[in-house]
Amino acid sequence: MTMGFRGYRRAAALLQALIIIAVPFIKIRGESALRFDVVNLKLHFFGSVIWIKELYLVLAAVIFIILILIAVTTILGRIWCGWTCPQTVLLDISDDIASVFPVLPGNIARHIVLIPLSALVSLTLIWYFVPPADTMSSLFRSRIITGFFIVQWGVIYAELTYLGRTFCTTICPYSMLQNGLFDSETLVISYDHSRSDECMGCDKCVRVCPAGIDIKDGTNRKCIACAECVDACRSMTGRIPSLIEYSGKIKRKKTALFASITLIAALALTSVILMRPPLDIVVSRDNISTVDRTNIYSAVMHNNTKDIIDLSVRLKGNFRILGNSMVRLEPFSMSTKKIAVKATGPGDSVHFIFEADGIVLERKAGFL
Ligand code: SF4
Ligand code: SF4
Repeated sequence: MTMGFRGYRRAAALLQALIIIAVPFIKIRGESALRFDVVNLKLHFFGSVIWIKELYLVLAAVIFIILILIAVTTILGRIWCGWTCPQTVLLDISDDIASVFPVLPGNIARHIVLIPLSALVSLTLIWYFVPPADTMSSLFRSRIITGFFIVQWGVIYAELTYLGRTFCTTICPYSMLQNGLFDSETLVISYDHSRSDECMGCDKCVRVCPAGIDIKDGTNRKCIACAECVDACRSMTGRIPSLIEYSGKIKRKKTALFASITLIAALALTSVILMRPPLDIVVSRDNISTVDRTNIYSAVMHNNTKDIIDLSVRLKGNFRILGNSMVRLEPFSMSTKKIAVKATGPGDSVHFIFEADGIVLERKAGFL
């Protein structure tokens, strides 16, 4: 007998779990591969940095993710739900582990297993905001980290324990969206009514169904395409294909169309990220009273590169800088420099020139 869909699903779930847990530990240029730095409002993205002010990039990334969701759902149906959704994966894992302790009544074993699993999920979520080493050293020392950890742990545990698979058919917004994206060729699990005379009436397909449906009654919007019923029917009838199988068409024009659109979107997004200027500077005059014909300016500087940038500032016209005119920008960092400017002659606007190796940026700001 070949490995059933359950074996492939477990392999996919394990791989997905390993990737999700490992990503915050992978360091690229000294930073987690993927982490949102709440304090500095920047996203570390596989060796690059996206600042929250770059909303167009965040918007482009969201559009890209929506495109992928539409493509995957239209072609592969609820494959995400049945194979890789963390909700399904965690419940499957807890069921598998709990089945090792058949002596415990009801769902008690599963509830016990979900306690450490929910804690791990809570920790993993924090790692995407605070580096794992800092999280672990602050756990039960920092009130914020500990608070987030405990609250998330409780919410995740309660959700998995008391809502469980009901979440998929009642609350999950992706589930609600899916039905509108299906077409007649979308991959779904279906029962072959033309072979119903081969059915043994064992109802094993019904007993194993995590969504609690009888696929023999026809395709059902609650079905998460986990293929447990396929494995069950194959084991009972000893036939492949069994009476229940995946049906639909993957190789078709729509697949090619979606693949092309998604690829173009991915290339466009990558180009936009790579083509950003290495240095971004915004200068504004501080709204404080001026004395002795001196104004104070704030220069907010974003270094979008992996290199240190040593920047010098000079002015054009009848103005001079009081104090230090040099600034060092660490890789992928944001820094605000206060610049005191004194007028040495007439003028109502200051022309700043920022210079570094191969970079010249000019900015203007009013003078009072
Ligand atoms: S009908 Fe089959 S594929 Fe659908 S949820 Fe139930 S067991 Fe999974
Ligand atoms: S598992 Fe297969 S044989 Fe048994 S009731 Fe379901 S469809 Fe019929």
